[in-house]
Amino acid sequence: MFIDGAWTEARSGRTFPVVNPATGEEIGRVPDGGADDAIDAIAAADGAFPAWSSTTAHHRADILLEAWRLMSDRADELAELMTSEQGKPLRASRFEVGYGADFIRWFAEEARRLTGEWLPSARADQRFLTIRQPVGVVAMITPWNYPMSMLTRKMAPALAAGCTLVLKPAEATPLCARAIFDIFTEAGVPPGVINLVTAQDPAPIGDAFTSDPRVRKLTFTGSTAVGRLLAAKAGQSLQRVSVELGGHAPFIVYPDADPLNAAKGAAALKFLNAGQACISPNRLYVHRNAADAFVDTLTKRVSGLVTGDGMEDGVGVGPLVDDAAVAKVAAQVDDARDKGAEVPVGGHRLTGADLGDDRLDRGFFYAPTVLTGVSEDMTVYREETFGPVAPVVIYDDVDEVIALANDTHYGLAAYVYTESLKTALSAFEALDFAIVGINDVNPTSASVPFGGMKDSGLGREGGHEGLDEYLEIKTAGISLR
Ligand code: ADP
Repeated sequence: MFIDGAWTEARSGRTFPVVNPATGEEIGRVPDGGADDAIDAIAAADGAFPAWSSTTAHHRADILLEAWRLMSDRADELAELMTSEQGKPLRASRFEVGYGADFIRWFAEEARRLTGEWLPSARADQRFLTIRQPVGVVAMITPWNYPMSMLTRKMAPALAAGCTLVLKPAEATPLCARAIFDIFTEAGVPPGVINLVTAQDPAPIGDAFTSDPRVRKLTFTGSTAVGRLLAAKAGQSLQRVSVELGGHAPFIVYPDADPLNAAKGAAALKFLNAGQACISPNRLYVHRNAADAFVDTLTKRVSGLVTGDGMEDGVGVGPLVDDAAVAKVAAQVDDARDKGAEVPVGGHRLTGADLGDDRLDRGFFYAPTVLTGVSEDMTVYREETFGPVAPVVIYDDVDEVIALANDTHYGLAAYVYTESLKTALSAFEALDFAIVGINDVNPTSASVPFGGMKDSGLGREGGHEGLDEYLEIKTAGISLR
């Protein structure tokens, strides 16, 4: 762990293993921190806050730019670490390193624009002035599916704003977190400003974060269930809260869309990170006129995907995070099959027998899968899958498809394929989702806001808005009398 500028063991002396999900092999051990370690880390962040928040934004921006440069220079070694710890194919890991570094550069630039406003008053003898100041110590809890970019997306704006922080990474990916902390430290972030607590049992750490009055903000990315729990606890302490949670993205193919292009987009998007992304499409609504061509192309593309250890050339889909994830995907597919869905490709756990050797036996692999004939009574229609399964729902009435798409508690990402500008913009306005891809499968960037509506979360990360999450606004009324 990294507390007050030093790499430390847990107070308990305990450690826990980190496992490669493609091979089941232990690739390292990290300290198993507890509430006492989290409190030490909060104290360090609290102690470092006065000095760090008093540095100029230009100084902080220079440190962030150095971190961006270091992260970019180390892209290859960081990608290899990510693939061995998280499983995604090496190419996808390199892409994530670039995406993660982008947040650092973006917020380095935004730091210099930390301005206030001069506001008129209704009174002739009064003026108003606003300034934006760092909220204070920020507690961060991050997930394993994007084990570097989800850290930089929170750490870079917090540091740009002048906040200090304590971060608890997911128990599956602490080594990636360590590498990111090395980068910020080498770039010149002073002791105590960033603190890392690793733990196998996250609950005591979450309790320490949400009950400590020195923590002024909690930012979390993960499941809706845990986000709701933590937001409630943070609410009791009146900490500011950002939570980026689950999704259940609709992917709508209108009758005027090019079905081949839409199917290629769906195949590329759905199997990214083996489907373990909160913006992954979970319901593919395809108009009946486009259905045959769409399903045919999708099935062919999915049949051609190579699943395996992300370190190997040509592998497009890596393992799932653990056995429980494979079991959850298998249960959803079996439920759909029992209720009448067809499975043109995939639909089973992948083992060595599928390849004729034992390479897949120790990892957590599920075959890339297409389901057709999916209906509302199936679990996959309602619950986030977080796996490589593309459920296709055929619809007839274009006037009803938005209501079908919106019929979920989630509100993160949605996708629309159409050749009509009017259809695209109407759908964009009517969809209750905060991120909409229009004939586009990557509607994200460091420079635009990302976040969810409804049960998908509170707050935005990235863009100008991502910095505001770490700032208090203060107003001065000034009398000229
Ligand atoms: P997933 O199901 O994708 O693993 P989680 O929401 O369980 O998502 O995990 C996201 C992050 O939340 C991880 O860092 C995990 O350790 C943490 N976490 C899970 N449960 C708790 C909890 N009760 N208190 C604090 N953090 C938690």
